[in-house]
Amino acid sequence: MKNLLDIKYWLFDLDNTLYDGATKVFEQVDKKMTKFISEKLNVGPEEARKIQKNYFQEYNTTLNGMIKHHKIDADEFLEFVHDVDLSFLDKDEYLKKEIEKLNGKKIIFTNGSRAHALNVTKRIGIDMLFDGIFDIRDSEFIPKPSEEPYKKIVENYKIEPEYCIFFEDIARNLKPAFEMGMKTVWIKNNEPWAAKFSDANFVNYKTDKLANFLKEINEIKRT
Ligand SMILES: [Mg+2]
Repeated sequence: MKNLLDIKYWLFDLDNTLYDGATKVFEQVDKKMTKFISEKLNVGPEEARKIQKNYFQEYNTTLNGMIKHHKIDADEFLEFVHDVDLSFLDKDEYLKKEIEKLNGKKIIFTNGSRAHALNVTKRIGIDMLFDGIFDIRDSEFIPKPSEEPYKKIVENYKIEPEYCIFFEDIARNLKPAFEMGMKTVWIKNNEPWAAKFSDANFVNYKTDKLANFLKEINEIKRT
């Protein structure tokens, strides 16, 4: 594995990684999923919730379960559930400044949709800083932490894994990246399911805040 200063490829998860307070988004998306399932499958909200959580457990995303079992239209689902209020998100000049200083390819790697990634990054004021967004459609609806999307993003963007670093709030999503030779950084948080495996050997670094971590790298580079 190479040195942090040799990194040429920067992969960022979106929700709860590029901004804090994902619970505010997640709660809304969560509710919209329940609503979508309830309407599509003609079941009450409680039954819809059970289905939603079961699919999330079994297939890593609710969408995947819905596609497998009910042949729903993925675009319709994604558009519906990501239509949420993002007005709580403010411009993040600090993060912007630190991302701007990084050399190399910068790519967003999300289990959500491209439209949602654009909505979020525009609000934070960092949408112009990335070379690409690899979303759930690009991964053909096979979500992290399945290995397939990691292989695909590496192929699509011609990434050399040993010169790549991946930032994520869900610790288990770091495992395939580590196994491919990437450096991994866990964004600390208190969600039990996201923090699970955060002490595993596939987590190279931990940080309270992405911008702080980037700042440290940028400062070492200057000296
Ligand atoms: Mg996330």
